[in-house]
Amino acid sequence: MNFELNERQKMIANSAKELASEFGPEYWRKKDQQGEFGAEFWKALCEAGFLGIVIPEEYGGSGNGTTELFIAMEELAAHGCGMAGAWYLILTEVFGGLSILRHGTAEQKRKYLPGIARGELEFCMALTEPDAGSNTLNTRTSARKDGGAWIINGNKTFISGADRARGMLIVARTTPPEKASRKTSGLSLFLADLPDKSVEIAPISKHGINYSHSCTVSFNDLRLPATALIPPEDGGWNMVLDTLNPERMSFSAVGVGIARLAISKAVEYARERKVFGKNPIGGYQSLQFPLAEAYASLEAARLLNFKAADLFDRGAAAAEVGAAGNMAKAVVVENATKAVYWAMQVFGGYAYSRDYDVERWWREVNIMRLAPITQQMTLAYIGERVLGLPKSYVT
Ligand SMILES: Cc1cc2nc3c(=O)[nH]c(=O)nc-3n(C[C@H](O)[C@H](O)[C@H](O)COP(=O)(O)OP(=O)(O)OC[C@H]3O[C@@H](n4cnc5c(N)ncnc54)[C@H](O)[C@@H]3O)c2cc1C
Repeated sequence: MNFELNERQKMIANSAKELASEFGPEYWRKKDQQGEFGAEFWKALCEAGFLGIVIPEEYGGSGNGTTELFIAMEELAAHGCGMAGAWYLILTEVFGGLSILRHGTAEQKRKYLPGIARGELEFCMALTEPDAGSNTLNTRTSARKDGGAWIINGNKTFISGADRARGMLIVARTTPPEKASRKTSGLSLFLADLPDKSVEIAPISKHGINYSHSCTVSFNDLRLPATALIPPEDGGWNMVLDTLNPERMSFSAVGVGIARLAISKAVEYARERKVFGKNPIGGYQSLQFPLAEAYASLEAARLLNFKAADLFDRGAAAAEVGAAGNMAKAVVVENATKAVYWAMQVFGGYAYSRDYDVERWWREVNIMRLAPITQQMTLAYIGERVLGLPKSYVT
């Protein structure tokens, strides 16, 4: 077992650090306040090749694995991006790149992967519906055959990046639940090109991460060619899981990065700030211990997340990847939110000022409790699938 990053991984980490530092927290403060996409950052991210990390060289990428992608996400976050850099990479490189790479047809790979690797083809994933969040099997968006085409109808919600995306991964029902051979059968994946007049997209006003809009999406007889289906028809469930696993692992990577960023700013401040007498507040154990505890737990979760990445890249079963990935995320959620909470405590009243950024990281890190999987569902996964305890709910 070797815990050292190799030369290539060190290079990726360094280049993420340099890129993130070039923009810094002030840039994202402004973008978040203005609700504006980080276009200058995106251009630099694409030029530096980050959109092609997991895409093979034959499609214009650099042919690395998710370990390298997560290293990049963590370092971007830790050196000033907070959630932003990883968020953009999740939408395009995970939802688009990884899904197509692992499950797409040869034609779909040729059509989409080079544009994704260059960053010219922003992507998004339309999975969640008003009545299908944690319960994906409740998906109602339908896809029916019409001659050689597919007709999509239904409503999605919280679809991040949909207003900018030129490609969308859609999860739809090709067989209604009552006719499906198994509970997990009947869902299919489609690739749609945007914009399209049959797709209505409207941003939702939200708490944070405002440099990317999350949107409601309505499909009104969206017509897709037969080649838009990622085969097999009705076999989308396993492919969805195969996308959701690296998505949640990405969130763990960025959660660790945001916590590192908040802790480093808090440590800097706590070493200088004196309130009573000569001793800086960083010496108070009431502030020091929670930060130390969160930091130590996050280092452990980070290693577990790398294990999940290694399993994923080596093609292990989704259940094995899911076990490591969910356990890492469960620990990251509690400890990254704890780290940012205690960083706020260190800043005292200044934490409430937008100029100190920590309030933004607080808004960002808390998304991890709710998405892409809620903390309750993560724990339910561990309880049921890892420990073998009974399921408390009916699907
Ligand atoms: C900012 C943001 C961006 C997002 N981006 C995307 C995106 O790009 N694409 C996309 O498809 N989706 C996206 N989502 C959706 C996200 O994945 C869902 O919000 C999430 O899966 C939770 O679903 P829900 O909101 O419907 O909550 P619900 O499923 O309604 O859950 C509500 C509460 O009930 C609890 N609960 C439910 N069932 C159980 C149970 N069996 N046991 C214990 N507790 C339970 C949950 O933990 C939660 O606390 C995004 C969401 C947000 C907030």
